[in-house]
Amino acid sequence: MLLGIVPRPALAQAGVAGQPLAVCVARDTGQSVAAMLHHPEAFDCTTPQHRFGAGHYWVLTAPIDRRSTFTAPLVLRFASVWQDRLTIHIEYADGVMKSWSSPATGITPLIQLGAFAQLPLPVREPAVRRVLFHVENAANIRGIVMDPRLATQADSASANLAMAALFAFLAGISLALIVYNFALWCAMGHRFQLHYCMLLSAMLAYTITSSGAFAWMVPAIANNDRLRLNYLFIGLAGGAAALFTRSFFEDQPMPRWLDRATGIVAAAVPLGGFSVAAFGALNLRLADMLHSLACAGLLAIVVPTLWGAWRQRSNFLWLFALSWTAPILLAGTRVLAALRILPWNFWIDNSTILSMGAEALLSSLAVAYRIKFLRDERDAAITREVVARRLADIDPLTGLLNRRAFLQQAIGRTGRQQLLLIDIDHFKRVNETLGHDGGDEVLRLFARALRTALPASVLIARMGGEEFALLVSAECSIDPEQLLSRLRTVRMPFDVRVTASIGICAGPLANDLDWKSLYRTADRALFEAKAAGRDRTRTMDYGIA
Ligand code: GH3
Ligand code: MG
Ligand code: MG
Repeated sequence: MLLGIVPRPALAQAGVAGQPLAVCVARDTGQSVAAMLHHPEAFDCTTPQHRFGAGHYWVLTAPIDRRSTFTAPLVLRFASVWQDRLTIHIEYADGVMKSWSSPATGITPLIQLGAFAQLPLPVREPAVRRVLFHVENAANIRGIVMDPRLATQADSASANLAMAALFAFLAGISLALIVYNFALWCAMGHRFQLHYCMLLSAMLAYTITSSGAFAWMVPAIANNDRLRLNYLFIGLAGGAAALFTRSFFEDQPMPRWLDRATGIVAAAVPLGGFSVAAFGALNLRLADMLHSLACAGLLAIVVPTLWGAWRQRSNFLWLFALSWTAPILLAGTRVLAALRILPWNFWIDNSTILSMGAEALLSSLAVAYRIKFLRDERDAAITREVVARRLADIDPLTGLLNRRAFLQQAIGRTGRQQLLLIDIDHFKRVNETLGHDGGDEVLRLFARALRTALPASVLIARMGGEEFALLVSAECSIDPEQLLSRLRTVRMPFDVRVTASIGICAGPLANDLDWKSLYRTADRALFEAKAAGRDRTRTMDYGIA
């Protein structure tokens, strides 16, 4: 996330090629080129460049070892930094000097992948002896002329090729992840997915501007303006990273101060990047320092967020740690280097791109793991719903279907159906004899007897009170007499004798009207069974009632 937290002069110069050249620095007080070349003792070779501050400077390379120069065409490579004008004087062994000079716009066409500027040297028989740089208005954040090297054009071409492969790989991953996570966000609507897309987009933009690819696309842009864009995009990436950190753990309540601090950092880091981009020219060293501090603030909120997630045993913590530890540590070392607590280091500086790739891949695993949790939650919810729905269909006392579920499953059946309404005889007396709980037990035993006596194809329900309904296709109709005799044999508490009456009717059951008619007739039959003395069955033809 914070990978390239502070745009550096030598952004992602992993495609470094050639022999490094040692340099010495002298402040420009109006001296001539000849004077500088004749008085190398006027140069300071020990003080770190950034200590000199902003201004005009001369930078002289140490004499170049003749054996190290080549007959092949040579290029002079150096990290691109913020400056207004650069002049390069190349002194050959025969004393001839060739010069090149350009404002910041002229440097852009020299930028290679990896943000190295590269000047082809005029091909001459004598070897190159020394190079004298003259820099106007060097911002000198990390240096004046950084990491100058002499390389063959072939070396430089292969460095470019390696960088092109690396950037194409990373840009491909980033684009795919942006599209994938955006689609996920559309489907699932989790905020962290959107924040992750924002983060990746800003990092992709940063990769394009910082790698030098942007200089190839827009060679007319001043190099300083390209560096401004680096600040802008890395600021946006930092802001998105703060939002992502918060939303990734949003199921864990965050202390209010941390929530607020995250909000502030999420605004401050992009604002810092924007102000360097907009006003950096006024005092770039100060602006860069403030920007680095804002980025340090980003690290400061990550630590308590992770701590909180650890204390709340977040399932996602180890994933977050897995994918972000390397970028966070690197960002930390970069901030320390930017604040000059750590010395500038090529590998810290160039870890941006690779750690971004590793992070992108690992955090896609983290996102997948989160989705697994969502799936588990969804499955659990579905199971709960199924259970709840089943409970809503069942009569709690007897475990049979209730009236509502019975009607739902009964109405709409095709073909003739046989309906049996069963009512326990004199149940009020049963209650009086056994008490209400005893009556309940009788209902339970009666229901169990129905279930065991009848095949599974019969729909059995407790319609209410001590009344039950059975429904079965008329083709496999139930023998009610046989059922009654089975019911008579059920052993009831205290051997109470319990009998029932059954009213039967067969007919269509395609709709509500059919049901009303069928029910009314069966009820009428039941009434007749009761009237005839109970403990018996009566069948009535459909439509009579
Ligand atoms: P009949 O032979 O004419 O059907 O007489 P009955 O006493 O069975 O019929 P009635 O409808 O007059 O009384 C039904 C009784 O069933 C009244 C009510 O207190 C009792 N009852 C209804 N639901 C329950 C229940 O869930 N548990 C118990 N224990 N009794 C119930
Ligand atoms: Mg009854
Ligand atoms: Mg009754």
